[in-house]
Formats: sequence, C-alpha cells, structure tokens
Amino acid sequence: MQRGSRLFYSLYGKARTGSIPARAFFLGYINDLTERLYYHDSYLWKFDATVTSRSEDGLRIELDRTAFYPSSGGQPFDTGTIAGIGVVDVLDEEDHVIHLLGAPLGAECREVSGSVDAARRLDHMRQHTGQHALSAVLEEEFGLKTVSFHMGAGYSTIDVEPLGVSAAKLLEIEKRVNERLLENLPVSVAFEHSATVAGLRKAPDREGLLRIVTIAGLDRSACGGTHVARTGEVGMILLGKTEKVRQSLRLEFFCGERVLHEVRARFCDAELQAATLRERLAESDKLRKRLSGELAEIAGQQRYAQSSSDPKGRRSWIEEMEIVDEDTRMQANAFLSNENALVILTGRNGATVLFGAHPSLGIDCGKVFKSWIGELGGKGGGSPKQAQGSLHSLDSLRLFVEKLSLS
Ligand SMILES: [Zn+2]
Repeated sequence: MQRGSRLFYSLYGKARTGSIPARAFFLGYINDLTERLYYHDSYLWKFDATVTSRSEDGLRIELDRTAFYPSSGGQPFDTGTIAGIGVVDVLDEEDHVIHLLGAPLGAECREVSGSVDAARRLDHMRQHTGQHALSAVLEEEFGLKTVSFHMGAGYSTIDVEPLGVSAAKLLEIEKRVNERLLENLPVSVAFEHSATVAGLRKAPDREGLLRIVTIAGLDRSACGGTHVARTGEVGMILLGKTEKVRQSLRLEFFCGERVLHEVRARFCDAELQAATLRERLAESDKLRKRLSGELAEIAGQQRYAQSSSDPKGRRSWIEEMEIVDEDTRMQANAFLSNENALVILTGRNGATVLFGAHPSLGIDCGKVFKSWIGELGGKGGGSPKQAQGSLHSLDSLRLFVEKLSLS
C-alpha cells in the first residue's frame, strides 16, 4: 500500500471523530474521487492506478489515485507519462484531477502506471518552498504581506503590499531569506482542522480540514502545493525585477538551479553589452580622430591663409601656449605644408618646443635646433623639416625661441 493511502485512512478516522462532519474531500475518496498521492509524498515519481473515467477519444482520463500535480495555487501542472503516453496537461476540477494525454489511451487499459517528470516537479517544489520562506520573512521581518503568487517557466512572482520597498531593502530581504534557507529547516505536511489550527501566516479562506505546510520555526501556511523536505534543497533565492501592479509590488524571484541560469544569463548579457559598447567606442574613436584630423587640417590651412610674409619672406606661426597637444601638432603640419612656412610652438607645461620649416626656406631644423638647445641646457632634435625638445625653465625656453626665430 502506498504511503499516501495509509495517511489517508488515518486522517479519515480522525476527521470522522471530530465534532465537525468530514468534508467532501474525504467523502470524495470513498466516492471514487481522485486520491492525490502528492499530498503525502511530493517525491513520489512512479505509481500504479486504475482508470476511473475516460473520454471517448481516450485523451482525457481520470485515475483513482495520482501523483500528477494539477495546475493550482500558482504552481503549474506536472508532466510525465501514463501507460507510456505523454501527459500534456493536468487540471484540477473540484475534487477531480483530470489528465490530458498527447495520444489516446486504449479503452482496454484499466490498470496503468504513471511516471512524473521528476526534474520539472523538483524545480517547482524548490520555487514553491522558496516562496513560502520569502513570504514568511517578508511578513515577519519587513511587514510586507503576500497577496498572490505565480510560478512561471522562467521566473516566479509574488505580489506584496504595501508598496514602497527600496532597492537597498530588497537586498536586505534577499540576504535574510537566504540565511533562513541555509538553516536547512525541515518542511512537514499535516492535516489540521480550520477550527483549531493556529499560527498560520494567512487566515485560511475555507473551513474544514486543511493541509498545513510547516517550515519549522519559519512558516505555517494552508497550501495544497508540493514542497521540498528541507529548505536546503531550495538552494538559493535571488530577487529579480520589481514592478508596480495596481496597489501591490510585484517581486520576481528565482530558486535553485534557476538562480544559476539567471545569473549566468545576466553575466553573458553584460559581457555581450560590454563587447558591443567596446566596438562602438572604437568606431566612434576612429571617427573622432578622422574628424579632428580634418578639422586640424582646415584650421592649419586657414591660419596660413591669414598669415602674412615678414621682411625675410617667411610666413610664421609663433605662439606660446599652455600645452602643445596632438590637435595643435596636426594644425602645425597643415600649416607647414605651405611654401615659406615657419612654426615655433612652445608649451609652458613642461617647457616644450616644436620647431618646423617648409623646405623652401632652406632651414635645417634639426641642425639649428641642436646647435642652440645644448647651450641652453635642454634636450631634443629632429629632421631638417621638424624638430622638438624641452628645456628646464620658461626663461631658457623663451631665449631659445628668440634664437630660433633669428635663424
Ligand atoms: Zn505551498
């Protein structure tokens, strides 16, 4: 006999001796309603059962007992097989559990074996138990009440009230729930009567015998869902996005393996985004360089066009500035591409000097530069077209410029 059945009979006896008449839930069993094996053992993956009802096309069946969880209470249905046929949906219709099959079950099949997809169910058990822990911590330590729960294929949500939880508070909540889960608290199921049940997080919305799920020292809730045996099996809980929905705050969360998937996905997303940004940055950097090169060329040519010849026939650009930067150098090159052009640019910052001349002037810049700079205690040199260097003080820099302009 299955563990579930034993539990049922003992409970049935208890219910009958109570002062309030037993509910249809129990009468239902002896009236051929579905015995829900998952109520008593959420780790039961394989079971044998008798077909009690079958639609004409054989796609919709009922069993006397089932380990298949039907969509209810925010938790999605189980998948798996019955008599080797895929189960595509499981419905909760009052006291009946309806199995929808992917292919017809033959009318001759009366005794069948069921097999629940354990990986899918275990994932649901982790999310569901995580939700109990999250809701309990939210209510007891943060004064936030859970008003609804939904478990999706990728993430789950709870709606909490009141609104107005800061991002910092969410991190605190997340940390606290994880601490409680790590205590590896036992999770147990018991059936208690609504008239005598005590210490529930949320008042039950129906009367009679209730299925009470208890996380020792953390939570007591009336719930028909499936849960893990100890909170350690939830693994970890991760809070996700939040969203205001009417008067509630919708809080996304992930438990167990879903945490790893989520974190890995976000990590990959971030990597991808960073790579795209780096690419775009490099492109715009290239564009910026090209544009500033073009601008410097225009500025240099304009400056030359506006210059006039000195008595020696030279058209000079002599200027002291804070710093001779890359942009200025490009302008100088553009200026120097013209006949009779002479450039002496000095930077106060570092006492630097750039000296250049168009070949038409017949000046060997490197040679002239060398002949003076050593004498003034500086260093530097260059080619006949252009030379550069630095001095120790602004005074010697200015003296150097005087000598260069006389060359
Ligand atoms: Zn539950």
